[in-house]
Amino acid sequence: TIGLIALDLMGNITVGVSTSGVPFKSPGRVGDSPLPGSGLYADHTVGAAAATGDGDKIMCYCPSFHVVQLMRQGFSPKEACRRVLADITQRTGQDKCFEIGLIALNTKGEVGAVSSVEFPYTSWTQKADSVERQISSP
Ligand code: ASP
Repeated sequence: TIGLIALDLMGNITVGVSTSGVPFKSPGRVGDSPLPGSGLYADHTVGAAAATGDGDKIMCYCPSFHVVQLMRQGFSPKEACRRVLADITQRTGQDKCFEIGLIALNTKGEVGAVSSVEFPYTSWTQKADSVERQISSP
């Protein structure tokens, strides 16, 4: 899955995802990616988030919605993603979470990402005309 979050200079924020789903998927499988709240979620008063990974499990937790709700409460994108991953891990009852990556951007332009396995992500800022490539991790 490729998740893309964009914030313009007027403060408009949007999120989109593109995915091939999973290998050997059943015909008609939907996955988490197109489901608002699971694969993606945006609220122009707060920010937006997107998820990637094991969609059949991800969709049980609405992680993108949860990340945005935590940002609404004042958590940074990184801390919101971290809390959602910790919450899911705790709820699965396992030491390690299934494969999931979360990215988030708030309307202040702050970016955060967390994942259960390493995921590369990139952020670009027009003001600085700079691209930052990073690897998210647990
Ligand atoms: N989340 C996607 C799905 O399960 C797969 C992916 O992120 O690569 O459809």
